[in-house]
Amino acid sequence: MKKLEIQHVYIHFPFCHRKCSYCNFYSIPFNPESGCFYVETLLKEISCFHKVFFIKPLTIYLGGGTPSLLSSSQLQDIFRGFNLDKTVEITLEMNPIDVNEDYLQKLKELPVNRISLGAQSFLDTELKLLNRLHKSSETIEAVRIIRKSGFDNISLDLMYGLPGQRIEEVIHSVKQVIKLEPQHISTYLLGLEKSSSLFKFKHKIPEDNILAEFYFSIREMLLNLGYNQYEISNFSLKNRESQHNISYWNDQYYIGLGPSASGYLPGLRYMNPNDLIKYREKINQGKIMSEKELITPETHEKEYIMLQLRTVNGLNLDKFRTKFNNDFIDKYRNLIEKYKRSGFIEIKNNLIRLSPKAYFISNEILCEFM
Ligand code: SF4
Repeated sequence: MKKLEIQHVYIHFPFCHRKCSYCNFYSIPFNPESGCFYVETLLKEISCFHKVFFIKPLTIYLGGGTPSLLSSSQLQDIFRGFNLDKTVEITLEMNPIDVNEDYLQKLKELPVNRISLGAQSFLDTELKLLNRLHKSSETIEAVRIIRKSGFDNISLDLMYGLPGQRIEEVIHSVKQVIKLEPQHISTYLLGLEKSSSLFKFKHKIPEDNILAEFYFSIREMLLNLGYNQYEISNFSLKNRESQHNISYWNDQYYIGLGPSASGYLPGLRYMNPNDLIKYREKINQGKIMSEKELITPETHEKEYIMLQLRTVNGLNLDKFRTKFNNDFIDKYRNLIEKYKRSGFIEIKNNLIRLSPKAYFISNEILCEFM
């Protein structure tokens, strides 16, 4: 039987220098020995996947966690696990404190061609509140080194909606981001789960109308400076959109490797154990994709709507009809009429999309399609 071709790979690295106060991901303290076990297990997992799928990645995303804790030779070992002939984008998430000239020069010899830097804020008081290890000056220096080392595709993460945050502080960070001229910017509204240590300050998070003001100010500043918005939270210079993220929003299959990673395949989603030891046990037994969840055609349709309507281009009505054998407008006529009347939804050239004024309340709107 012909193997399914997989073009997108996500690799989760579970270690961090220390826990950020807002963190809700699976991340554990780093030590070199556990790092070696992790790479060893990951390589086994990759070879198990090769037995089942034809993996020819167009994109690879190394996220976490803090994958910049991996040495360049460990990264090299991981890349050797793939046929990279056709790969167009390999992203490595980095913590600014891991950036130094020596490491970056070694990275330049690897197939990594995109760096995503967790800047989050350019105010040291905010970085301290987030329990980040870096200072704003270190992010600025990190960008300089990354660029000097020859990387021309840099993405910065920016977080807003911090406890007690004011618009002046948001603007300060955006201005600093703009000065650094990254090719790509991802913005994140801080969300606090009970398990995070910052949760005790949840009551200080600005009201929704203030958060909306933050969002629209960031958006306006970035658009004015020539960034294109291609998804509700993502902006880029021309042709510098994240190809990996686009694959998620366009319903492409991908595999997720490493503890707590998830993958999406025809009719199912799987999740790796949220625990390094359990993950190692499973992989050592040759068990990949251990926890599977079937995706019914109905769920698939809803997830597709959710993802496509988060993109600025929106959902293509013809594609939807071909994919689901269903007419989107007929099926959701009442909702569409309601949101068209309020100016939150637009239909143009066979595309249905949220209008910009709906972006900040997109979750509420999209939930109604669920
Ligand atoms: S760097 Fe990311 S994964 Fe690590 S502790 Fe901070 S938020 Fe969590």
